Amino acid sequence: MKLNTKIIHAGVEPDPSTGAIMTPIFQTSTFVQSGPNQHQGYDYSRAGNPTRTALEKSLAALENAKHGLAFSSGVAATETVVKLLKPGDEVIAASDMYGGTYRLFSKIWEGFGIKFIYTDTSVAENVAKAVTDKTKLIWIETPTNPLMNITDIAAVAAIAKKAGALLCVDNTFASPYLQNPIDLGADIVMHSATKYLGGHSDVVMGALMFNHNDLLEKLFFIQKSSGAVPGPMDCFLVLRGIKTLHVRMQRHCENGKKVAAFLAANEKVKKVYWCGFEAAPGHAVAKKQMRDFGGMMSFELQDDSVEAATKVLTSTKLIALAESLGGVESLINHPATMTHASIPREERIKNGLSDSLIRLSIGIEDADDLIEDLREAIG
Ligand SMILES: *Cc1c(COP(=O)(O)O)cnc(C)c1O
Repeated sequence: MKLNTKIIHAGVEPDPSTGAIMTPIFQTSTFVQSGPNQHQGYDYSRAGNPTRTALEKSLAALENAKHGLAFSSGVAATETVVKLLKPGDEVIAASDMYGGTYRLFSKIWEGFGIKFIYTDTSVAENVAKAVTDKTKLIWIETPTNPLMNITDIAAVAAIAKKAGALLCVDNTFASPYLQNPIDLGADIVMHSATKYLGGHSDVVMGALMFNHNDLLEKLFFIQKSSGAVPGPMDCFLVLRGIKTLHVRMQRHCENGKKVAAFLAANEKVKKVYWCGFEAAPGHAVAKKQMRDFGGMMSFELQDDSVEAATKVLTSTKLIALAESLGGVESLINHPATMTHASIPREERIKNGLSDSLIRLSIGIEDADDLIEDLREAIG
Protein backbone atom coordinates (compact mmCIF):
# COMPACT_ATOMS: atom_id res chain seq x y z
CA MET A 1 0.00 0.00 0.00
CA LYS A 2 1.32 3.45 -0.88
CA LEU A 3 1.93 6.07 1.81
CA ASN A 4 -1.00 8.32 0.87
CA THR A 5 -3.40 5.39 1.25
CA LYS A 6 -1.80 4.12 4.45
CA ILE A 7 -2.21 7.59 5.96
CA ILE A 8 -5.99 7.29 5.53
CA HIS A 9 -6.57 3.61 6.24
CA ALA A 10 -3.80 2.04 8.33
CA GLY A 11 -4.96 0.81 11.73
CA VAL A 12 -8.52 1.94 11.23
CA GLU A 13 -11.25 -0.69 10.84
CA PRO A 14 -14.99 0.02 11.01
CA ASP A 15 -16.18 -0.55 14.60
CA PRO A 16 -17.31 -4.22 14.71
CA SER A 17 -20.25 -3.57 17.04
CA THR A 18 -21.83 -0.67 15.13
CA GLY A 19 -20.07 -0.25 11.78
CA ALA A 20 -18.96 3.27 12.73
CA ILE A 21 -16.36 4.23 10.11
CA MET A 22 -14.50 6.48 12.56
CA THR A 23 -12.76 4.76 15.46
CA PRO A 24 -14.91 5.46 18.53
CA ILE A 25 -13.42 7.31 21.50
CA PHE A 26 -13.41 4.52 24.09
CA GLN A 27 -13.55 6.88 27.06
CA THR A 28 -13.30 4.18 29.69
CA SER A 29 -10.76 3.25 32.34
CA THR A 30 -11.71 -0.41 32.69
CA PHE A 31 -13.37 -3.26 30.81
CA VAL A 32 -15.90 -5.75 32.21
CA GLN A 33 -14.63 -9.34 32.34
CA SER A 34 -16.79 -12.44 31.91
CA GLY A 35 -14.66 -14.35 34.42
CA PRO A 36 -11.43 -13.57 36.29
CA ASN A 37 -8.88 -12.52 33.67
CA GLN A 38 -11.30 -13.40 30.86
CA HIS A 39 -11.60 -10.33 28.69
CA GLN A 40 -11.68 -9.27 25.05
CA GLY A 41 -8.07 -8.09 24.90
CA TYR A 42 -8.41 -5.06 27.16
CA ASP A 43 -8.43 -5.03 30.96
CA TYR A 44 -7.37 -1.52 31.97
CA SER A 45 -6.75 1.59 29.84
CA ARG A 46 -3.21 2.24 31.07
CA ALA A 47 -2.18 -1.10 29.54
CA GLY A 48 -4.33 -0.71 26.46
CA ASN A 49 -7.37 1.04 25.02
CA PRO A 50 -8.99 0.33 21.62
CA THR A 51 -8.73 3.95 20.43
CA ARG A 52 -5.04 3.92 21.32
CA THR A 53 -4.57 0.56 19.57
CA ALA A 54 -5.99 1.98 16.32
CA LEU A 55 -3.65 4.97 16.60
CA GLU A 56 -0.62 2.80 17.42
CA LYS A 57 -1.25 0.65 14.33
CA SER A 58 -1.56 3.76 12.20
CA LEU A 59 1.65 5.22 13.67
CA ALA A 60 3.57 2.01 12.94
CA ALA A 61 2.33 1.91 9.34
CA LEU A 62 3.39 5.51 8.70
CA GLU A 63 7.01 4.68 9.52
CA ASN A 64 6.99 1.27 7.77
CA ALA A 65 7.45 -0.25 11.23
CA LYS A 66 5.95 -3.37 12.78
CA HIS A 67 5.14 -1.71 16.08
CA GLY A 68 3.96 1.66 17.34
CA LEU A 69 3.43 2.94 20.88
CA ALA A 70 1.77 6.21 21.87
CA PHE A 71 2.72 8.32 24.90
CA SER A 72 1.31 11.32 26.73
CA SER A 73 3.99 13.60 25.21
CA GLY A 74 7.07 13.53 23.02
CA VAL A 75 9.36 13.75 26.03
CA ALA A 76 7.52 10.81 27.66
CA ALA A 77 8.27 8.78 24.51
CA THR A 78 11.93 9.88 24.68
CA GLU A 79 12.19 8.98 28.35
CA THR A 80 10.80 5.51 27.62
CA VAL A 81 13.77 4.85 25.31
CA VAL A 82 16.23 6.06 27.98
CA LYS A 83 14.64 3.64 30.46
CA LEU A 84 16.00 0.76 28.36
CA LEU A 85 19.44 1.73 29.76
CA LYS A 86 21.27 1.03 33.00
CA PRO A 87 23.65 3.13 35.13
CA GLY A 88 27.07 3.19 33.45
CA ASP A 89 25.63 2.99 29.94
CA GLU A 90 26.60 5.71 27.47
CA VAL A 91 24.48 7.63 25.01
CA ILE A 92 25.86 9.59 22.06
CA ALA A 93 23.48 12.47 21.38
CA ALA A 94 23.36 15.32 18.91
CA SER A 95 24.75 18.58 20.33
CA ASP A 96 22.14 20.51 18.38
CA MET A 97 18.83 18.99 19.37
CA TYR A 98 15.45 19.83 20.86
CA GLY A 99 16.02 21.70 24.15
CA GLY A 100 13.56 19.52 26.05
CA THR A 101 15.47 16.39 25.07
CA TYR A 102 18.73 17.95 26.22
CA ARG A 103 17.10 18.98 29.52
CA LEU A 104 15.69 15.48 30.07
CA PHE A 105 19.07 13.87 29.37
CA SER A 106 21.32 16.28 31.24
CA LYS A 107 19.13 17.39 34.16
CA ILE A 108 17.30 14.16 34.95
CA TRP A 109 18.88 11.03 33.51
CA GLU A 110 22.48 11.97 34.13
CA GLY A 111 21.57 11.94 37.82
CA PHE A 112 20.73 8.26 37.46
CA GLY A 113 24.21 7.39 36.25
CA ILE A 114 23.68 7.40 32.49
CA LYS A 115 26.41 9.24 30.60
CA PHE A 116 25.56 11.46 27.65
CA ILE A 117 28.21 12.45 25.12
CA TYR A 118 27.14 15.31 22.86
CA THR A 119 28.63 15.74 19.41
CA ASP A 120 27.88 17.35 16.07
CA THR A 121 26.23 14.36 14.40
CA SER A 122 26.01 16.12 11.02
CA VAL A 123 29.59 14.85 10.67
CA ALA A 124 29.13 11.07 10.96
CA GLU A 125 32.81 10.51 11.88
CA ASN A 126 32.19 12.44 15.11
CA VAL A 127 29.73 9.75 16.13
CA ALA A 128 32.16 6.95 15.25
CA LYS A 129 34.87 8.66 17.35
CA ALA A 130 32.57 8.93 20.38
CA VAL A 131 31.73 5.22 20.44
CA THR A 132 33.07 3.20 23.38
CA ASP A 133 32.28 -0.31 24.58
CA LYS A 134 29.67 1.30 26.87
CA THR A 135 27.73 2.97 24.06
CA LYS A 136 24.20 1.59 24.11
CA LEU A 137 22.17 4.31 22.37
CA ILE A 138 22.73 6.93 19.70
CA TRP A 139 20.15 9.71 19.60
CA ILE A 140 19.88 11.99 16.60
CA GLU A 141 17.48 14.54 15.21
CA THR A 142 17.36 15.62 11.57
CA PRO A 143 16.65 18.31 10.47
CA THR A 144 17.51 20.01 13.76
CA ASN A 145 15.86 22.80 15.64
CA PRO A 146 16.38 25.65 14.85
CA LEU A 147 19.41 25.55 12.49
CA MET A 148 18.10 22.83 10.18
CA ASN A 149 21.31 20.80 10.35
CA ILE A 150 21.12 17.47 8.60
CA THR A 151 22.55 14.16 9.81
CA ASP A 152 23.07 11.24 7.43
CA ILE A 153 20.79 8.61 9.00
CA ALA A 154 22.14 5.66 6.99
CA ALA A 155 25.76 6.55 7.87
CA VAL A 156 24.99 6.81 11.60
CA ALA A 157 22.89 3.62 11.44
CA ALA A 158 25.94 1.75 10.13
CA ILE A 159 28.03 3.13 13.03
CA ALA A 160 25.34 2.12 15.56
CA LYS A 161 25.12 -1.37 14.13
CA LYS A 162 28.88 -1.85 14.33
CA ALA A 163 28.88 -0.55 17.91
CA GLY A 164 25.99 -2.82 18.90
CA ALA A 165 24.01 0.25 19.98
CA LEU A 166 20.45 1.27 19.20
CA LEU A 167 19.90 4.23 16.91
CA CYS A 168 16.86 6.37 17.75
CA VAL A 169 15.89 9.18 15.37
CA ASP A 170 13.66 12.05 16.47
CA ASN A 171 11.72 12.45 13.22
CA THR A 172 9.40 15.20 14.46
CA PHE A 173 10.61 17.96 12.10
CA ALA A 174 10.43 15.89 8.94
CA SER A 175 7.26 13.89 9.75
CA PRO A 176 6.81 10.39 8.29
CA TYR A 177 5.64 11.99 5.06
CA LEU A 178 9.11 13.36 4.33
CA GLN A 179 11.46 10.85 5.93
CA ASN A 180 11.36 7.25 7.20
CA PRO A 181 14.42 6.52 9.35
CA ILE A 182 13.69 2.81 9.84
CA ASP A 183 14.03 2.30 6.07
CA LEU A 184 17.49 3.86 6.44
CA GLY A 185 18.58 1.51 9.22
CA ALA A 186 17.39 3.22 12.43
CA ASP A 187 16.08 0.99 15.23
CA ILE A 188 13.54 3.38 16.75
CA VAL A 189 11.76 6.46 15.44
CA MET A 190 10.46 8.97 17.93
CA HIS A 191 7.84 11.64 17.17
CA SER A 192 6.36 14.49 19.07
CA ALA A 193 2.88 13.82 17.67
CA THR A 194 2.04 17.26 19.06
CA LYS A 195 3.52 18.66 15.86
CA TYR A 196 2.86 17.44 12.27
CA LEU A 197 1.10 14.16 13.15
CA GLY A 198 -1.59 15.90 15.21
CA GLY A 199 -1.19 18.90 12.96
CA HIS A 200 -3.84 21.16 14.49
CA SER A 201 -2.15 22.51 17.64
CA ASP A 202 -4.78 20.91 19.85
CA VAL A 203 -3.02 17.97 21.50
CA VAL A 204 0.26 17.00 23.18
CA MET A 205 1.45 13.46 22.40
CA GLY A 206 4.49 11.33 21.64
CA ALA A 207 5.14 8.15 19.67
CA LEU A 208 7.74 5.42 19.17
CA MET A 209 7.87 3.19 16.10
CA PHE A 210 10.20 0.18 15.67
CA ASN A 211 10.51 -3.32 14.22
CA HIS A 212 12.22 -5.59 16.76
CA ASN A 213 9.85 -7.80 18.75
CA ASP A 214 12.15 -7.76 21.80
CA LEU A 215 11.93 -3.96 21.80
CA LEU A 216 8.13 -4.22 21.79
CA GLU A 217 8.26 -6.37 24.87
CA LYS A 218 10.58 -3.98 26.71
CA LEU A 219 9.06 -0.69 25.56
CA PHE A 220 5.47 -1.86 26.13
CA PHE A 221 6.47 -3.01 29.64
CA ILE A 222 7.85 0.47 30.38
CA GLN A 223 4.82 2.17 28.81
CA LYS A 224 2.42 0.22 30.99
CA SER A 225 4.56 0.32 34.13
CA SER A 226 5.53 4.01 33.99
CA GLY A 227 2.09 4.98 32.73
CA ALA A 228 2.76 8.02 30.53
CA VAL A 229 -0.09 7.06 28.18
CA PRO A 230 -2.35 9.35 26.15
CA GLY A 231 -6.09 9.40 26.81
CA PRO A 232 -8.63 8.07 24.28
CA MET A 233 -9.80 11.54 23.24
CA ASP A 234 -6.24 12.63 22.42
CA CYS A 235 -5.69 9.38 20.49
CA PHE A 236 -8.80 10.14 18.45
CA LEU A 237 -7.56 13.66 17.69
CA VAL A 238 -4.20 12.40 16.42
CA LEU A 239 -5.90 9.64 14.37
CA ARG A 240 -8.02 12.34 12.79
CA GLY A 241 -5.02 14.60 12.25
CA ILE A 242 -3.04 11.83 10.52
CA LYS A 243 -5.76 11.43 7.87
CA THR A 244 -4.68 14.71 6.25
CA LEU A 245 -0.93 14.42 6.90
CA HIS A 246 -0.03 14.05 3.19
CA VAL A 247 -2.12 16.97 1.95
CA ARG A 248 -0.96 19.20 4.79
CA MET A 249 2.69 18.29 4.25
CA GLN A 250 2.47 19.00 0.53
CA ARG A 251 1.25 22.51 1.30
CA HIS A 252 3.78 23.01 4.14
CA CYS A 253 6.51 22.17 1.61
CA GLU A 254 5.13 24.40 -1.16
CA ASN A 255 4.68 27.34 1.18
CA GLY A 256 8.04 26.70 2.81
CA LYS A 257 9.80 26.92 -0.53
CA LYS A 258 8.10 30.22 -1.40
CA VAL A 259 8.73 31.82 1.99
CA ALA A 260 12.37 30.68 2.04
CA ALA A 261 12.92 32.23 -1.39
CA PHE A 262 11.29 35.48 -0.28
CA LEU A 263 13.45 35.69 2.85
CA ALA A 264 16.65 34.88 0.96
CA ALA A 265 15.97 37.79 -1.42
CA ASN A 266 15.10 40.29 1.35
CA GLU A 267 17.90 42.79 1.94
CA LYS A 268 17.24 43.04 5.70
CA VAL A 269 17.76 39.29 6.06
CA LYS A 270 21.34 38.15 6.53
CA LYS A 271 20.93 34.39 6.32
CA VAL A 272 18.17 31.83 5.85
CA TYR A 273 18.49 28.31 7.25
CA TRP A 274 16.40 25.91 5.15
CA CYS A 275 17.67 22.55 3.91
CA GLY A 276 15.96 23.00 0.53
CA PHE A 277 18.55 25.52 -0.70
CA GLU A 278 21.14 23.89 -2.91
CA ALA A 279 23.86 25.80 -1.09
CA ALA A 280 22.71 24.62 2.38
CA PRO A 281 25.42 22.45 3.99
CA GLY A 282 23.09 19.47 4.49
CA HIS A 283 21.27 19.75 1.18
CA ALA A 284 22.79 16.73 -0.57
CA VAL A 285 22.08 14.42 2.36
CA ALA A 286 18.60 15.92 2.83
CA LYS A 287 17.87 15.28 -0.83
CA LYS A 288 19.02 11.69 -0.44
CA GLN A 289 16.98 10.84 2.65
CA MET A 290 13.96 13.17 2.49
CA ARG A 291 11.15 13.39 -0.08
CA ASP A 292 10.92 17.18 0.16
CA PHE A 293 12.22 19.91 2.46
CA GLY A 294 9.31 20.91 4.67
CA GLY A 295 8.07 24.15 6.13
CA MET A 296 10.49 24.68 9.01
CA MET A 297 13.13 27.39 8.62
CA SER A 298 15.05 30.04 10.52
CA PHE A 299 16.57 33.36 9.53
CA GLU A 300 18.94 35.99 10.87
CA LEU A 301 18.61 39.74 10.42
CA GLN A 302 21.33 42.08 9.13
CA ASP A 303 20.77 43.98 12.38
CA ASP A 304 21.74 41.06 14.58
CA SER A 305 20.16 42.19 17.85
CA VAL A 306 17.43 40.95 20.19
CA GLU A 307 15.69 44.31 19.68
CA ALA A 308 15.53 43.97 15.89
CA ALA A 309 14.25 40.41 16.21
CA THR A 310 11.66 41.49 18.79
CA LYS A 311 10.36 44.12 16.39
CA VAL A 312 9.75 41.50 13.71
CA LEU A 313 8.30 38.99 16.17
CA THR A 314 5.79 41.48 17.54
CA SER A 315 4.86 42.95 14.14
CA THR A 316 3.49 39.94 12.28
CA LYS A 317 -0.30 40.01 12.23
CA LEU A 318 -1.14 36.65 10.72
CA ILE A 319 1.83 34.61 11.92
CA ALA A 320 1.40 34.02 15.65
CA LEU A 321 4.22 34.38 18.16
CA ALA A 322 4.26 31.01 19.91
CA GLU A 323 6.36 27.96 20.70
CA SER A 324 5.61 24.64 18.98
CA LEU A 325 5.38 23.88 15.27
CA GLY A 326 3.79 21.66 12.68
CA GLY A 327 0.24 22.97 12.94
CA VAL A 328 -1.91 24.28 10.09
CA GLU A 329 -1.30 27.86 11.24
CA SER A 330 2.07 29.57 10.82
CA LEU A 331 4.05 30.34 13.96
CA ILE A 332 7.07 32.52 14.61
CA ASN A 333 9.42 32.30 17.57
CA HIS A 334 12.68 33.55 18.97
CA PRO A 335 15.07 30.79 20.12
CA ALA A 336 17.33 33.21 22.07
CA THR A 337 14.55 34.35 24.42
CA MET A 338 12.06 31.49 24.11
CA THR A 339 12.92 27.86 23.29
CA HIS A 340 16.68 28.16 23.93
CA ALA A 341 16.64 30.83 26.67
CA SER A 342 18.10 28.39 29.21
CA ILE A 343 21.38 28.16 27.25
CA PRO A 344 23.95 30.79 28.36
CA ARG A 345 24.37 33.51 25.66
CA GLU A 346 28.02 32.72 24.94
CA GLU A 347 27.34 29.03 24.43
CA ARG A 348 24.22 29.79 22.40
CA ILE A 349 26.15 32.07 20.02
CA LYS A 350 28.96 29.54 19.78
CA ASN A 351 26.35 27.01 18.67
CA GLY A 352 25.22 29.36 15.91
CA LEU A 353 22.06 30.64 17.58
CA SER A 354 22.53 34.37 17.13
CA ASP A 355 20.54 37.08 18.92
CA SER A 356 18.38 37.85 15.88
CA LEU A 357 17.72 34.27 14.83
CA ILE A 358 13.99 33.81 14.17
CA ARG A 359 12.34 30.45 13.61
CA LEU A 360 9.29 29.95 11.43
CA SER A 361 6.88 27.05 11.25
CA ILE A 362 5.20 27.72 7.93
CA GLY A 363 1.56 26.66 7.95
CA ILE A 364 -0.86 25.91 5.16
CA GLU A 365 -2.36 29.37 4.65
CA ASP A 366 -1.98 31.14 1.29
CA ALA A 367 1.75 31.73 0.81
CA ASP A 368 1.13 35.24 -0.57
CA ASP A 369 -0.48 36.30 2.71
CA LEU A 370 2.39 34.84 4.73
CA ILE A 371 4.97 36.62 2.58
CA GLU A 372 3.07 39.92 2.83
CA ASP A 373 2.91 39.56 6.63
CA LEU A 374 6.66 38.93 6.82
CA ARG A 375 7.46 41.73 4.35
CA GLU A 376 5.62 44.26 6.51
CA ALA A 377 7.04 42.92 9.79
CA ILE A 378 10.63 42.92 8.53
CA GLY A 379 9.99 46.46 7.23
C1 LIG B 1 8.22 19.25 20.55
C2 LIG B 1 9.36 18.39 20.32
C3 LIG B 1 9.71 17.36 21.22
C4 LIG B 1 8.97 17.13 22.52
O1 LIG B 1 7.65 16.76 22.32
P1 LIG B 1 6.45 17.15 23.31
O2 LIG B 1 5.26 16.56 22.62
O3 LIG B 1 6.43 18.64 23.43
O4 LIG B 1 6.75 16.50 24.63
C5 LIG B 1 10.79 16.55 20.89
N1 LIG B 1 11.51 16.75 19.77
C6 LIG B 1 11.21 17.72 18.89
C7 LIG B 1 12.04 17.88 17.67
C8 LIG B 1 10.15 18.58 19.13
O5 LIG B 1 9.87 19.55 18.26
